[in-house]
Amino acid sequence: MRTEVPVAAAIRRRPTWSCLVRLATLSVVVCGLAGCTLTAPLPPNAERFAPPVVYARWWAMTEACSGRSGDLASILWYSVPSPQFMHDGQEAAGYWESRSNQIVLAKMYTDRGAVVRHEMLHALLRTGSHPRAQFLGSCASIVLCQETCVKDAGPWHAPMNYVVLPPDSLVVTSRAELLPPEADGQRWLELHVSVRNPRERAVVVAAPGDPLTPPTFGYDLRGPSGGTSGGDVATDSSALFIQPFETKQRLFEFQVASDLTEDHVSPGKYLVRSGYALLWSAYEAVTVSP
Ligand SMILES: [Zn+2]
Repeated sequence: MRTEVPVAAAIRRRPTWSCLVRLATLSVVVCGLAGCTLTAPLPPNAERFAPPVVYARWWAMTEACSGRSGDLASILWYSVPSPQFMHDGQEAAGYWESRSNQIVLAKMYTDRGAVVRHEMLHALLRTGSHPRAQFLGSCASIVLCQETCVKDAGPWHAPMNYVVLPPDSLVVTSRAELLPPEADGQRWLELHVSVRNPRERAVVVAAPGDPLTPPTFGYDLRGPSGGTSGGDVATDSSALFIQPFETKQRLFEFQVASDLTEDHVSPGKYLVRSGYALLWSAYEAVTVSP
């Protein structure tokens, strides 16, 4: 019997321990209800910007997960100096417009890889809709997909013959990597998280906490100026089901900067771990250099 599982609706970052610097509630409408292809005038205060060097790497990542290729140089980039702006009748943080092949982003998200890659994925797929196979499938580990995206992706059906198990039935691995500086001097710390189902039956995780907003992937950094931790809650039920022998992945990225936040890390020595459904890996020591 196929079982349809209700989609967890709440979308926010969730603190998992108390000594944290800042965990802002993140609820980003990346595209309007009509998708991202609407031919619309630019927001009145939009400004053209040159894509930073890291966009080439993010574009290549999005090409790889989608199996599509395209010309990054053909995209026109605009930023809006406010956290959100009106697009298609509602507040948005970004959109892709097909006719001019332009991407408009709220300025505060221009260095958030998962948001930028969301719009890149639209541009590569040449669609303003959110196909489940890419947005919640092959690109899910590196692309943000929240309320509008999940709704647009359509219903999802649970696998047959699954078993409900606690998180420690899974195998969680974590790997931190300080990347070399980009050509323009930006630098990034990446935290790769994997969770593997070692069984030949599909598993749904009995995650602790609120059943409507169960935690999925999370991170935890502790350094010389404090710590920061957070992560995702399930925006789609598929995030809680792991197919036989499947490995799900998630990438957290922190730009090297002068502060420690949910997406910045300051130089210093850190203990870093990541997890899934509050099942954590062991701490790993990482030195973050400017
Ligand atoms: Zn979108």
